[in-house]
Amino acid sequence: MENKVRFYNTLTKNIDTVIPVEDGKIGMYTCGPTVYHFAHIGNLRSYIMEDVLEKTFRYVGYDVKRVMNITDVGHLSSDADTGEDKMVKGAKREHKTVLEIAKHYTDAFFSDCTKLNIKRPDVVEPATNCIPEFINMVETLIEKGYAYKAGGNVYFDTSKLKDYYAFSSAVEKEALQEAVRDDVETDLNKKNKTDFVLWFTKSKFEDQALKWESPWGVGYPGWHIECSCISMKHLGEHIDVHCGGVDNIFPHHTNEIAQSESFLGHQWCKHWFHVNHLNDKTGKMSKSKGNFLTVNTLEEHGFNPLVYRMFCLQSHYRKPLEFSFEILENIKAAYVKLVKKVTSLDQNGEIDQKVFKDYKAKFEDAICNDLNTSMALTVVYDLLKADTNDATKYALVKDFDRVLSLDLTNPDAIKDNKAEVDSELEQYILAKIEERKAAKKEKDFAKADAIRDELLAKGVKIKDTREGVVWEIV
Ligand SMILES: [Zn+2]
Repeated sequence: MENKVRFYNTLTKNIDTVIPVEDGKIGMYTCGPTVYHFAHIGNLRSYIMEDVLEKTFRYVGYDVKRVMNITDVGHLSSDADTGEDKMVKGAKREHKTVLEIAKHYTDAFFSDCTKLNIKRPDVVEPATNCIPEFINMVETLIEKGYAYKAGGNVYFDTSKLKDYYAFSSAVEKEALQEAVRDDVETDLNKKNKTDFVLWFTKSKFEDQALKWESPWGVGYPGWHIECSCISMKHLGEHIDVHCGGVDNIFPHHTNEIAQSESFLGHQWCKHWFHVNHLNDKTGKMSKSKGNFLTVNTLEEHGFNPLVYRMFCLQSHYRKPLEFSFEILENIKAAYVKLVKKVTSLDQNGEIDQKVFKDYKAKFEDAICNDLNTSMALTVVYDLLKADTNDATKYALVKDFDRVLSLDLTNPDAIKDNKAEVDSELEQYILAKIEERKAAKKEKDFAKADAIRDELLAKGVKIKDTREGVVWEIV
């Protein structure tokens, strides 16, 4: 079939057309979550955009098989094998076992995905399911001379590669410098700074909950090995597309490539897709900051999670995206208007085939061209204004929603508290919030408080958060 999906390939630094190994089929691998806590909405931005990518492949006719791992062992606080074990930390925090924590947060992750209309990958495999595969890969790497034993652990020897830095990018170099700077507990067993652990038997975690027999003693795998093994188990020796957040580029994906290609003896994956960060006013959103935003937080503030999905789709996946509740309010107003418009279309009537074909082509063009989702949304808006009948518009929106997954034809999507606030009141509230913001900027706190009280008198409670002002009807 004709290959027409193109996106920015981190490996070649070009917008490449995806040419799959097998015609008409896409093998896609996604790094899954480390299930020690809730996913924050910044992590979920990556999963939303990867979902759009998967659905784009399906939309244009590929047979897609997508595989995702669940990290339930071996991931330390620092991606470079230092710090505390994330799963052990989560278990301690909640006075539960590691397996209980893993189950709880795996379920929570997929429940978030359902709310965001993120399709579950065809295969989901927890790392702890694949210990024999890990041991086999580590054994082969030792046999081939790419790995060595030191101080009880097994390490990958990065000096054995012609070019360890597979992405040879600024991101990689910068992340390496940062890792070296933050490396407070240098592992003296490592021959080279960039070497990484394949299998631990000796670590500072005497209380590591999950351990397995191995040729090198009782222990547990390093973090990176799981993605190489799980992808090969389900997708074979070649994958067409590997995705993740930009955070994964180094060291995780660099290490995945190092061990996979040393093991296989040939190139492993040709197309790498990375989604940029979600920021708030203070910088990158991350769990280590403590107070992070989840899908639950969004719902508590009266947002359908699909409003957040639309917020992500309005921006390009390669750009950092700044989150604030104020922006989300605006997106929500737009979302409510859009769903109202679509659901009020008269579905009866004959579809104009020429218009259908034209708009489908425009939509396909947008999504296939480096996943231009904001352009895809513009196509939806243009269509609604177009000179054609309702039935054609409705059929097209329904068709586009196979990729956008915004429930645009579902009237229930906008049934909640705030959606029922009429737009006049909403305009008033937003104007008052702006006025209060200006007052605070001029340090006129009396006026700011007066505005807050005035809103409260009308039954509107406002709250200041790090991500901006939120409001609710009380
Ligand atoms: Zn991975």
